[in-house]
Amino acid sequence: MLLIEEKYKPIAQILLSAETCPRCILRFCCVGSPTLYRLPYKDLADELQKFLVLPHGGATDENNAPPSKKVRLEDTDGCNIESQSSREIKHSDSETPKTCNLCLGILQHLCNTEFVKKISHKVKSAGYEFKDFVFSVSLPAQLLVREHSAWLHTQQEMRKQGRLLEKSDIIQLKEAYKWIIQPMISDELGVQAVSKSMFEVGVVFCHQETNEDCHFLATVCKDCFKPTKNKQSVFTRMAVVKALDKIKDNDFWIQFPWPPYSPKTTCEVVDIQCNHASVFVAGRYNKYSRTLPQTPWVIDGERKMESSVEELITEQLMTVFKADSFNFSSSGREDVDVRTLGRGRPFAIELVNPHRIQLTAQDMKDLQQKINSSDKIQVRDFQIVTREAVAHMKEGEEEKTKCYSALIWTEKPILKEGLEVLDNSKEVKLIQKTPLRVLHRRPLASRCRVIHTMKTEYVDEHHFRLYLKTQAGTYIKEFAHGDFGRTVPNIGSILKTTADILELDVESVDVDWPPALDD
Ligand code: ZN
Repeated sequence: MLLIEEKYKPIAQILLSAETCPRCILRFCCVGSPTLYRLPYKDLADELQKFLVLPHGGATDENNAPPSKKVRLEDTDGCNIESQSSREIKHSDSETPKTCNLCLGILQHLCNTEFVKKISHKVKSAGYEFKDFVFSVSLPAQLLVREHSAWLHTQQEMRKQGRLLEKSDIIQLKEAYKWIIQPMISDELGVQAVSKSMFEVGVVFCHQETNEDCHFLATVCKDCFKPTKNKQSVFTRMAVVKALDKIKDNDFWIQFPWPPYSPKTTCEVVDIQCNHASVFVAGRYNKYSRTLPQTPWVIDGERKMESSVEELITEQLMTVFKADSFNFSSSGREDVDVRTLGRGRPFAIELVNPHRIQLTAQDMKDLQQKINSSDKIQVRDFQIVTREAVAHMKEGEEEKTKCYSALIWTEKPILKEGLEVLDNSKEVKLIQKTPLRVLHRRPLASRCRVIHTMKTEYVDEHHFRLYLKTQAGTYIKEFAHGDFGRTVPNIGSILKTTADILELDVESVDVDWPPALDD
């Protein structure tokens, strides 16, 4: 029993005579029941015939009169059977119906078991781990033009009867297609299709034969079709929607008369894509080497150091998660010659398009252990986190404090007592001009930073160790040597000598993220 509202009967008749497929007819008759779209194609065609022929329970108005339009149907020989009376409509036994002029065959030939098997084969062979999936479909832009044409035409027809047909009432092709194909793919893959999932299966269609359908729009609305970077064609769906919104009905009809011709070919599948949303891994790292940069150090295409913190951590991760690429971020960074001690520096790694995602806490522990076999770095609190949590790491970074220890050299000999001035200084405000050493990559600016506390440890008359607690973002090296007067005050100016920094270690980064884990 077909659930098309009686008032939409004229639409069904118009579209049937225009050789539109039964499923597209359902869409334009605003049928919102997915099960009807899932009926076998032939059964649906039969049902539709019955609906158009048989008068409905007791109604007597003109809606039930035989259609005034001739209804053409294809027979096995490809000839048209024309019938004045709807009672004479016979369903065609033709095995392959003519390609629909609205969906270009998508609701006819691209939602069958064979095609679903093709999709599921592609997904399975891609080797992803997923517990559900979201299905997406990319349609050729010219479908919008054909859809618009059918809407304008049927809307006119409805208006004659004093009824409205809003474009938004029509079931979108995308939606109907998903209703049919999603449960089938779901069965094949053995997991549910949901509206939001980390794993996406996407099908991309194109249709060469009708590609030029939307070209006339460019003459009507030049502004809508400006060349953009990375786009092969200016006729994007967005641009076409915009142009269709602007074009006057009459102009449209002149350029694109009703009905759109039925194409010889069906839409082509350009691609079946799989993509898994990024997975984020966080932790804290210690760096014990003074010859290890945080990220690969490349100058003029030439590698300066053989490894980096980033590589030592991500190499293992990439192998285990089978990701396409990664993005490394951390709470601040240290220079190549600076060690990071204490509980380490928080970091997060985005693994892009990971194929493996089901890792247990134990798996993560094992992974951490593998990374820790290096003597250059050590990681802890290694865990999978959410994208939102990563944002916490960057939040309020400026307000955080960092603790350092430095080995300082002074030109003039010093006494232990001479260092008390540093021990007694609290909340020392610095003005730091962008250091000379980073001026090539950062704009020249002056910024204010605070050294909260200092503690000294006398080594000999030219050396002492300095422990500092500072505002994040303070240039410590420049505070030690003064950077040719670009940081004031500095240790040299305070001790009235020339000072330099020989070694620097980060003792702690006071960001309490990610959460500590038991080891
Ligand atoms: Zn169709």
